[in-house]
Amino acid sequence: MRTPFVAGNWKMNKTVAEARELVSVMGKGLAVINNVEIVLCPPFVSILAVANLIGGTRLGLGAQNLHWEEKGAFTGEVSPAMVKEFCNYVILGHSERRTYFGETDLTVNKKIHAALKAGLTPIVCVGETLEENKAGKTAQVVSTQTKEGLQGLDAESAAKVVVAYEPVWAIGTGLAATADDAQQVHCDIVRKSLADQFGSDVAQKIRILYGGSVNAANAAEYFTKPDIDGALVGGASLKSDDFIAIVQAASN
Ligand code: PEP
Repeated sequence: MRTPFVAGNWKMNKTVAEARELVSVMGKGLAVINNVEIVLCPPFVSILAVANLIGGTRLGLGAQNLHWEEKGAFTGEVSPAMVKEFCNYVILGHSERRTYFGETDLTVNKKIHAALKAGLTPIVCVGETLEENKAGKTAQVVSTQTKEGLQGLDAESAAKVVVAYEPVWAIGTGLAATADDAQQVHCDIVRKSLADQFGSDVAQKIRILYGGSVNAANAAEYFTKPDIDGALVGGASLKSDDFIAIVQAASN
């Protein structure tokens, strides 16, 4: 039985003051939902403020990126140990990082290894573009990203990873994948790739989230599907009532 998992990716939104305000409103509503692993992923500069507000609750904290090196001359980067001082999770390989910041399966792979070594749970994003989808390449793209991203992990480490299937065309567009389509990708592509790579026992333990325009109205249907173990939520995680409703739907 996989524990449902919902993470909020705030992307580059909210100043520290705004982050405090959001969490003080949202935190109480979330903290009482006790059968879902809930993770807030604010920008780096707000991590300390959010950590102080959610300390002692069951809410988890995640970063949106890290660098794979431990320390040194990497201006502007944040190391795994720096993230681990405050967080237990990190989003890696988000499509916005792949598209705008040159992230590749190789860099995602290095980051996953570094995150696990630091004791962080990586939330690894995979997903095809609209062009790739239309060209019938979803299976090829998603299985390659999954396999190359998780390359070289042992079974014990792989079981700790959370994978988020986020079709690029569904992120921030309002064009969510249907629950049936997402289930099919989760089962036939992502979980199958994981089983090929690590064996079916490990693949059955790995949480696979759906992400892409999840909102308060459509969330519940995703969670009825056997291979959709939760959601990675962008825009709706910035709205207190909507995010609470999504987590509540995962809990039901
Ligand atoms: C995301 O940021 O990972 C995401 C899925 O965004 P949205 O929910 O806004 O589509």
